[in-house]
Amino acid sequence: MSKGGAENANILSALERLARLMRAGEHGGGLNPAQWEALRYLSRANRFSNSPVALARFLGSTKGTVSQTIKALHRKGYILKAAREGEKRSIALSLTDTGREMLGIDPLAEFSKSIDGLRGKTARRLDKGLSKLLAAELARTKQPGFGVCATCRNFRGENGSYHCAFFEAALSDDDAGMICVEHST
Ligand code: SF4
Repeated sequence: MSKGGAENANILSALERLARLMRAGEHGGGLNPAQWEALRYLSRANRFSNSPVALARFLGSTKGTVSQTIKALHRKGYILKAAREGEKRSIALSLTDTGREMLGIDPLAEFSKSIDGLRGKTARRLDKGLSKLLAAELARTKQPGFGVCATCRNFRGENGSYHCAFFEAALSDDDAGMICVEHST
């Protein structure tokens, strides 16, 4: 096997095992991995992206599966469902205080401690490499990137005032730092 082939096999094997370990650890607090992912997503999604459809796109899941996840989180009191202003048939999802508190015991926090242990150049290289790999996979599978406003071509900002050319809406500092289903580079 070529050097590149061996490296690729090592990287694939490490990613596969890491993904499995991360998923296996995500059953704490009475939630399953999809429910944890949904809570994390809703804590980071901007006001244009807090819908069941956007959540399904982020999770790469079907509407039916996401609907079960939303029902379970709603029943447990971790999320609120509200009618979206001006759009009768669209639902806006948000975390309740209890939902936010749950994120304080996120099982992935333990994994984050291992990342802390990398530090310096290794952490920076890993960050860059994984970001490139993820971007390539998203492009190959034609899935949305869910980036933040600062790296979006629709972002307009000057003198501390921000605007989205896609949604034709003003953006606050908080909005600009959250992920968006319509992010485009
Ligand atoms: S600027 Fe881009 S990322 Fe920000 S809200 Fe508009 S479309 Fe979404």
